[in-house]
Amino acid sequence: MTRIDLHCHSTASDGTLTPAELMAAGASAGLDVMAITDHDTTGGWAAAAAARPAGLTLIRGAELSCRWYGVEPAIPLHLLAYLFDPADPVLAADLVRLRTDREQRAEKIVELLRADGVAISWPEVSAYAAGGSVGRPHIAQALIRAGLVRTTDEAFASRWLGARYLVPKADLDVFEAVRTVRAAGGVPVFAHPNATVRGRIVPDKLIVELAAAGLFGLEADHEDHTVEQRAHVRALADRLGLVATGSSDFHGSHKTVRLGAFTTDPGAYERIVAAAAGVAALG
Ligand code: AMP
Ligand code: FE
Ligand code: FE
Ligand code: ZN
Repeated sequence: MTRIDLHCHSTASDGTLTPAELMAAGASAGLDVMAITDHDTTGGWAAAAAARPAGLTLIRGAELSCRWYGVEPAIPLHLLAYLFDPADPVLAADLVRLRTDREQRAEKIVELLRADGVAISWPEVSAYAAGGSVGRPHIAQALIRAGLVRTTDEAFASRWLGARYLVPKADLDVFEAVRTVRAAGGVPVFAHPNATVRGRIVPDKLIVELAAAGLFGLEADHEDHTVEQRAHVRALADRLGLVATGSSDFHGSHKTVRLGAFTTDPGAYERIVAAAAGVAALG
């Protein structure tokens, strides 16, 4: 049986394993194919490729912070992008802009917390991110250290990072992102599209429009989807001729999900690889 996990985070963003540790963990988990998909960065690609164990195919990717501006307020969403050319000037500039904004936004969140007497600091949070894409899980880490919450999950409650101290990111327009990924030879897949546990979700008619704009797939099997939502996303993908994927969205100890908890069918994986023209699958 081929085990394919197409959505994993490392310390290049808000995962807790280094890219090299992630590769080793993938092999230990019995994966045959693993994608590294850090938020808004390709920063983990080289280290992952260098550490790739024999028998594990590496798919280089990223998870792009996007927004659908068709409703007010706009709905944030995540777009997985596989096997794109990291030197594509438009996409590379987008990634730099997204990471810069992540830093400014995290600093603002830290300032809001400090204004309310919370004893954390930007240098502390920045050190947790350690040069990678900064995210709210790094602020959560500071809140845990300060003894204000016990877990990352608790830090995402509405009284903390979920709402009260939430500052929006300057995300990419999702239609532009789909076109940019395609133009860079990449394959765009909508991550956890029905995850109502994360907040508002987009209507199916938006997914129909994204498919017409070049979207290639939908992540159906994901821990943030109910069984019904997984079936719904899979049926929508079938109807639109999109591939349906399944992935762990592994974040190391920032989440409880294990590598390979959800996997992608070999047929869907083969279609993604065949559609890519940016960089090769390594394996
Ligand atoms: P950000 O990208 O900075 O907006 O932070 C969102 C990240 O935090 C996502 O990558 C999620 O994986 C993670 N996240 C979101 N909600 C939770 C939660 N309730 N518990 C743990 N991590 C979460
Ligand atoms: Fe994350
Ligand atoms: Fe995501
Ligand atoms: Zn993710």
